[in-house]
Amino acid sequence: MPDDMDATARRIARFIKPLRVKPGSKVDLGRDFDPRYKAGIRRKKDGLELLRVGKELLADYQARLAAQERYGVLVCLQAIDAGGKDGTIRHVMSGMNPQGVHVSSFKVPSAEELGHDYLWRYQARLPARGDIAIFNRSHYEEVLVVRVHPENLERQKLPAHSTGKDIWQSRYAEINDWERYLTRNGIIVVKLFLNLSKEEQRARFLKRIDLPEKNWKFSAADVRERQHWDEYQRAFEQMLSATSTPSAAWYVIPADRKWFARLCAGAVLAHTLIKIDPRYPTVSQDAWQQLQTARRELEAEAPEGTPADPFTAAGKRRRGQRPAVADPARGALTVAPALGRVHERSFGRLDTPSRPTRFRINEIFGRIRRPAMGSCVTTTRPSAAKPGHAWP
Ligand code: ATP
Ligand code: MG
Repeated sequence: MPDDMDATARRIARFIKPLRVKPGSKVDLGRDFDPRYKAGIRRKKDGLELLRVGKELLADYQARLAAQERYGVLVCLQAIDAGGKDGTIRHVMSGMNPQGVHVSSFKVPSAEELGHDYLWRYQARLPARGDIAIFNRSHYEEVLVVRVHPENLERQKLPAHSTGKDIWQSRYAEINDWERYLTRNGIIVVKLFLNLSKEEQRARFLKRIDLPEKNWKFSAADVRERQHWDEYQRAFEQMLSATSTPSAAWYVIPADRKWFARLCAGAVLAHTLIKIDPRYPTVSQDAWQQLQTARRELEAEAPEGTPADPFTAAGKRRRGQRPAVADPARGALTVAPALGRVHERSFGRLDTPSRPTRFRINEIFGRIRRPAMGSCVTTTRPSAAKPGHAWP
């Protein structure tokens, strides 16, 4: 990882730290997490610019995740009604290649789903290696709505021995075990709770009534559900306390400002991808030789008066330059075409936030500039990795 990328990674880690639920801690939402927190970013415009920059970073990392096909990422999105799940998905994921991102929305379970164990329908929608799956509501509904409305539990046709008083503790443990299993198998679990205030929910419901183009989003059932606000808050707190684990921690996203929630969600996902650090697949010696043979054949086909290789002729890369770095750990050549140089941008100073962590706008993602096509970083001579191999 180049130094400037390291610095970006550190800035993102610092930005999201106040949102992380420390494993083993006992969460009190009212005391610990302010839905209006915005890390000192005063203007929405600045937040949107940061998100735009962050999306470039996400797109770059997603491309590498997909190419590497070793890790999958599961993003679980939980919120109370009108919390902004749909908008977060739309904005954060919009820069990514849709082929590698899948969204699954979980509603009231169907008869078929109720005929299985409670994790069955979630297991069926997990990401493949290289993919990012987003759960719009997730297996956590099984300890939220099912807990607040016990009639949901009755519909699950569970045997008597598993419906005792300790059912929620058992479910937390089962979910933690399942997520640990997934993480060990290379499916990394990211958990985001959009923390909306009761007053902001009221305002959003009213907006859905006031604006004709939002009428379709209004649901009388959501307003009824609001009567259970306190029960939901307690269920969220217990869930966060019991299931934020070192390998799959919860992040509580301040959700009263949509733009800030989206920025935070993007930052947590970026942090996860940076930690995975996916690389483009390696090219073996043999495969590289085959590329050279194919190059010679294609160049020989150049029509009269046409450059043998229009790409190198246009000066994008000097002929013969090798687009690879040695990776001694793998004993092969790693193509590193787009590690993305990151540059800071200067947007000027922001206001002083009330929280101890203070950020300048250029201190979160920095600025990614894509490397020129074909540029490369060479770290180690391949001979160190494979004795006897000569540079072409
Ligand atoms: P939107 O309203 O933005 O379309 P939504 O996620 O609220 O999105 P709805 O169709 O309004 O979608 O609601 C889905 C409902 O399904 C929610 O009330 C949720 O609590 C409920 N639900 C999800 N999982 C379960 C479950 N396992 N058991 C019972 N109810 C569930
Ligand atoms: Mg709804």
